[in-house]
Amino acid sequence: MITPRIEIDLDKIRYNTRYLVERLNLRDITVTGVTKAVCGHPAVAKAMLDGGAINLADSRVQNILRMRKAGIACSMAMIRSPMLSQLDAIVQNSDTSFNTEISTVTGLAAAARKSNELHNIVLMVEMGDMREGIMPKDLKSFALRVIKIPGLTLTGIGTNFACLGGIPPDIDIMNKFSSLVREVETACGLAFTTVSGGNSASLTWALGNRENGCVNNLRLGEAILLGVDPVCGTQISGLHTDAFTLVAEVIETKIKTDVVQLKFINTNLKDPSSLVHGTGSVARSILAIGLQDTDIGGLKLPEGVTSFGATSDHMIVCKSHAHLQVGQEVKFQMNYSAVMQAMSAPDIVKTILGAPSLKTLVPTNSNRPRLALL
Ligand SMILES: *Cc1c(COP(=O)(O)O)cnc(C)c1O
Repeated sequence: MITPRIEIDLDKIRYNTRYLVERLNLRDITVTGVTKAVCGHPAVAKAMLDGGAINLADSRVQNILRMRKAGIACSMAMIRSPMLSQLDAIVQNSDTSFNTEISTVTGLAAAARKSNELHNIVLMVEMGDMREGIMPKDLKSFALRVIKIPGLTLTGIGTNFACLGGIPPDIDIMNKFSSLVREVETACGLAFTTVSGGNSASLTWALGNRENGCVNNLRLGEAILLGVDPVCGTQISGLHTDAFTLVAEVIETKIKTDVVQLKFINTNLKDPSSLVHGTGSVARSILAIGLQDTDIGGLKLPEGVTSFGATSDHMIVCKSHAHLQVGQEVKFQMNYSAVMQAMSAPDIVKTILGAPSLKTLVPTNSNRPRLALL
């Protein structure tokens, strides 16, 4: 088999999606599958739809384009505020975008009218993460302007937590979000289709004891892909945490003693502790993977394996008891940042495990207008 590779278990991704969808549906919340960490990999996107995600979202138009080219026709949203330089591609390939700037919204409307597309707008409101969002006091007047612009439909309000600030939402802030949404709905005379209450960090709130606000959607990436709560990194009970496995190959194994005698070492060395010592009788092995491929610090080492560090193309490890042989494969579980980097690394082969997609087209429960494709 080709190495290095990332093995993606679609059955586990499908299972994780279904598990979250079923629990959230009981609370009248739908799930949008977020595909950015896998660069819009079509097989993963389809597994999310198979698991019951009502639609998909990504932060990059190239990823959306990749899924469209693979024939995925469901409703798709751009969840990063559009760049003015990409408005045509956005209205042609995603039917919804999340926005915070009036000049961008106006530009989207012009692009939508020009290419005869329907385009939906979700406005993001700042609720404390201090990343993207319209300030709450400005939301109503912003929404009132948007609904007057021909070529667009204002379909919802969204918010985001814990991405920059790392703080998950509590009941108070979610109640504030809901009342803000209701206020805007009243002012606009609309009932929004989408009230999106955040990402995987909002799951603790959504599945906990709480009042029924008007949130009817969450946008989930990490919880589906890795089965963990992004805030604390712990497993969400019931979910698979091992849908992604990185496989690297051993290219050198040697016993290395200190070649340089310590007494000869340049005394000007600023940090003598940075010297990498030999490991006595324990063999050190080099894996053909490095910082250019993934977040090495985000790999979970197999039982008995210790890491000595990594450079651009090499990772140095040792294994207790049995030496690793040249040509042998070593497998790692991965965190979000390791998955994200490995999925975008050109030299890492993406290998799909598990049953292929059960359905390839639009989920039947999508209530969004269909998009005229490409
Ligand atoms: C990345 C992202 C998500 C998904 O976040 P996860 O923590 O992976 O669930 C949702 N919304 C926005 C705006 C995002 O950028």
